[in-house]
Amino acid sequence: MSFFDFHHHKKYLNGIYNLNFRDETPEHLFSTGIHPKDISSQWESDFRRVKEASLKSNCGAIGECGLDGLTDVDEKLQETVFEKHILWANDVKKPVIIHCVRKFFQLIRFSKIAAVPLIVHGFNKKQSIADELVNSGFYLSFGRAVFHNVSLQTVVKDFPVERMFLETDDADFDIAELYEKVSELKNITAEDLQNQIFENLERIRNL
Ligand SMILES: [Zn+2]
Repeated sequence: MSFFDFHHHKKYLNGIYNLNFRDETPEHLFSTGIHPKDISSQWESDFRRVKEASLKSNCGAIGECGLDGLTDVDEKLQETVFEKHILWANDVKKPVIIHCVRKFFQLIRFSKIAAVPLIVHGFNKKQSIADELVNSGFYLSFGRAVFHNVSLQTVVKDFPVERMFLETDDADFDIAELYEKVSELKNITAEDLQNQIFENLERIRNL
């Protein structure tokens, strides 16, 4: 059984590979964007690379991009660059994979300009933030934190499966273990979970 890995940085063929905009585009499914911590004074030329790569048919999403309250990059500049990504995603009709640290309130504002699905990756925050994001139309992707974060397990347990993805990100574990864990929490089979996630994937890719 193959379990889709929604967001990762590894050179393997499963799921969506997050391409660094400095690298060559791969043959398999990938996403591309400028991570907030990688925003520099030459972000405009970097963004041109992102745009070019994103036109490939195997580019499944724009991102990761977003807002990060813990980097030194100027807040306004982060917002400008994030907005460019969303507007471009609208143009090319691809979903956006979002990195968000301590900026969830601002994030919800940005959802108003998006005409494509938005997926917050690596979600590990509390119930009220998950609720607010779901109510604003976001999808959430969960990763390794589910294994040890008990309050996140409660969030996952009640979280609508039709808004969910699972990912390894940069962690080293088998994605099958996460499907196993989440299906236990939700009291469904790993196969049902896998089918639902494939359905979600089709929904966000057929905009
Ligand atoms: Zn990542």
